[in-house]
Amino acid sequence: MSERKVRVRFAPSPTGALHIGGVRTALYNYLFARQHGGDLIFRIEDTDSNRFVPGAEEYIIESFKWLGINFDEGVSFGGNYGPYRQSERRDIYKKYVQVLLDSGKAYIAFDTPAELDAKRQEISNFQYDASTRMSMRNSLTLPKEEVDALIADGKQYVVRFKIEPNEDVHVHDIIRGEVVINSSILDDKVLYKSADELPTYHLANIVDDHLMEVSHVIRGEEWLPSAPLHVLLYRAFGWADTMPEFAHLPLLLKPDGNGKLSKRDGDRLGFPVFPLEWHDPKTGEVSSGYRESGYLPEAVINFLALLGWNPGNDQELMSLDELVKLFDLHRCSKAGAKFDFEKGKWFNHEYILKKSNEEVAGGRHAGTSSGTDGGIRNAVRPPVDIHHLLFLIHYDQQLSGQRRIIFPLEQVPRNSSRFFKIPRHFFYRNMGRGDRGKLPSRGTAGRKQKRNTQAGNQRMEKG
Ligand code: GLU
Repeated sequence: MSERKVRVRFAPSPTGALHIGGVRTALYNYLFARQHGGDLIFRIEDTDSNRFVPGAEEYIIESFKWLGINFDEGVSFGGNYGPYRQSERRDIYKKYVQVLLDSGKAYIAFDTPAELDAKRQEISNFQYDASTRMSMRNSLTLPKEEVDALIADGKQYVVRFKIEPNEDVHVHDIIRGEVVINSSILDDKVLYKSADELPTYHLANIVDDHLMEVSHVIRGEEWLPSAPLHVLLYRAFGWADTMPEFAHLPLLLKPDGNGKLSKRDGDRLGFPVFPLEWHDPKTGEVSSGYRESGYLPEAVINFLALLGWNPGNDQELMSLDELVKLFDLHRCSKAGAKFDFEKGKWFNHEYILKKSNEEVAGGRHAGTSSGTDGGIRNAVRPPVDIHHLLFLIHYDQQLSGQRRIIFPLEQVPRNSSRFFKIPRHFFYRNMGRGDRGKLPSRGTAGRKQKRNTQAGNQRMEKG
């Protein structure tokens, strides 16, 4: 690797809850930064004001706090390269848009949405590029006086990147090797819109990565098609020498491997796809989170680390510190990683078994003040998901070797870290008919208790 100081960034757009795939991207950036003694930057990419969702930024910050992924600089962390929220960097982008206009690498276009639609009707597979730009209303086709007059008149315009056709653009990707794309398939991307005086993602991303001295761009595969355009932008600015290295991470796939894991899959298949519970301020919809579902942050981290990367042997349980030592971008797979939720449960089980009773109970008894570190106390919050509760009771039994009974959070006696109780009638009040058969009967639980006591005690002694 080059001598350059490692500086990586996680750059979410605050458009809603942070998808678990985004958490994995941040985790890989974190592992890479820590391993190389580098910096991890938290940048908010909020140039698309239409997609802004209030509360999303705070949600993302809280998620990383819970997971124990610490940033060195960025929104809410400070640093010398700010501001780190793109909407606060307008003037910086304007300056760089002008640089491209002055050097003839970009041009101003006045085509209205209606005019663009008309072109699309006229030319099948219309693309705004070298083959069509000279038939459009832009600063390449209109006299300078007219362009100036239109701008002075307040006419809305965009700035487009002037891509030279027929050039093979090479992108070196640490995970995928050499990726080559011919520039003729790229369109003259919009870099800036006068309507909101904001750049688009592409321009802001390149300018920020350059000014923030980002050394490696580690992000999801969905951004790979944009990488050649980004390479061309670095060159247009004369920044090719300090261009970051790229690593595009494999997609997280649905459990059956058929397509990308979407936000909807969680509801459909009954597992969280978000780190924390999310209350959508627009729709009022509530989506479950790993924290509220009783997952320990270290289990989530370990599970995610292995979705798209492996240490080269069959070791599965790894702490964050071990992951920092072992992580290697070269060992990331190119193929998408199936989201195996059963495996996620297994990790949580393993981590719960390692904990003391007090830690499993969470909150004050675990020595934390906030009680937001996972654990049963955190998990059991009405409305209770019955399967999840049974899952916790099961592990709690294994752990303690006793039949401990669990209360819903509100009813936990303040000073009790050992005994949690959920009366059977509580189950019946909170579960659908179909679920009743899944309840452990008193008899079974009693028998299990005997069987588990010995193993449980041994485990406790070891711990
Ligand atoms: N704002 C982009 C996102 O939401 C960041 C992409 C990148 O890392 O370049 O994923």
